[in-house]
Amino acid sequence: PPSKLPNVGTTIFTVMSQLAVEHGAVNLGQGFPDFPVPDFLVDELSRAMRDGKNQYAPMTGIPALRQAIAAKTQRCYGRKVDADAEITVTSGASEAIFDAVLAVVRADEEVIVLDPCYDCYEPAINLAGARAVHVALDPVDFSVDWQKVRDAVSPRTRMIFINTPHNPSGAMLDASDLAALADIVRDTRILVLADEVYEHIVFDGRRHESVLRYPELAERSFVVSSFGKTYHCTGWKIGYCIAPAALTAELRKVHQYNTFCSFAPAQWAFAAMIDAQPAHYDELGAFYQEKRDHFARQLASTRLRTLPVPGGYFQLVDYSAISDLPDTEFCRWLTTEKGVAAIPLSPFYETPPPGQRLARLCFAKNQATLDAAIERLQKA
Ligand code: PMP
Ligand code: GLN
Repeated sequence: PPSKLPNVGTTIFTVMSQLAVEHGAVNLGQGFPDFPVPDFLVDELSRAMRDGKNQYAPMTGIPALRQAIAAKTQRCYGRKVDADAEITVTSGASEAIFDAVLAVVRADEEVIVLDPCYDCYEPAINLAGARAVHVALDPVDFSVDWQKVRDAVSPRTRMIFINTPHNPSGAMLDASDLAALADIVRDTRILVLADEVYEHIVFDGRRHESVLRYPELAERSFVVSSFGKTYHCTGWKIGYCIAPAALTAELRKVHQYNTFCSFAPAQWAFAAMIDAQPAHYDELGAFYQEKRDHFARQLASTRLRTLPVPGGYFQLVDYSAISDLPDTEFCRWLTTEKGVAAIPLSPFYETPPPGQRLARLCFAKNQATLDAAIERLQKA
């Protein structure tokens, strides 16, 4: 029988990380920090394991963590969410995305995604039997043309995905974007999936416009986040979903049979961390902004041209002064011949913009790693 996902190969993140290992390249491809997890969190994780928190957690997540998430949500976005009925702890944002889509999207429905978009969205949509309808972001500044989104809506549209700060571009939605989205979904049955995994990595005094700030949108949204990004521990795979009670009830029907619960010791550790060090959220932007700025200054000594980075931990670079290769070939060449792994943008698109010569570099790295990469990039 034909594959259920005929267009899916191995994700570009795995492909480029493997290539980086094979060629001893500095890996600025797959997005993950190479600096340590906060000591406090590691101590709390081992404490939880020593204290016997090693069996199944409650299906929805431990109450202490859900309460900490609720408190943090109120503090950051001014929205009061019910820790019992509206928050579910999941095995990464990825699981939350799959759960949400599988729970509410039916076969033959449509889900609008904004290209370039994170690569797990479309497989989730397709496994639900539905179709992804791709709307392109502006190829220069990655802003949304909401008229195009409106034009893509049909009677079959069940969901619209948004992602702010955006992977791969770092672009952020502003209040007028969310107002335009609210206009489109008002009086329809369209739900929103807001991927906000980089919510705390924002720069230059910008405000993260979580849909949770906007009651009209929050009432029809699954808001997904990930502790992996916020606490430098992408391998722990703990995230969560905030959604109104009725949507959460549907999401949990999938979650309970998919994973039942997520890694229990880490839930205790995050609960302790959020309570003990609430300032971590506020300091993360400054921490990454310094890396962003330093890396951009270093890149000025190469033939790569940097694009603005409003949020997230990826720097897009235009490589057209170095090469005219299509982006996937360029990134392979950069990895194998120049020793720096990068991520091409075309895997994030249904139809990549013709002639786009952009690559994504992750700056969630120690300065020594970035220095080593720059030394090599100067020779490219
Ligand atoms: N969405 C986006 C935009 C991401 O960048 C990532 C992480 N790569 C995820 C979702 C998945 O997060 P997690 O690792 O917590 O599953
Ligand atoms: N989110 C990470 C990125 O964009 C990769 C996650 C993964 O490898 N699945 O690089």
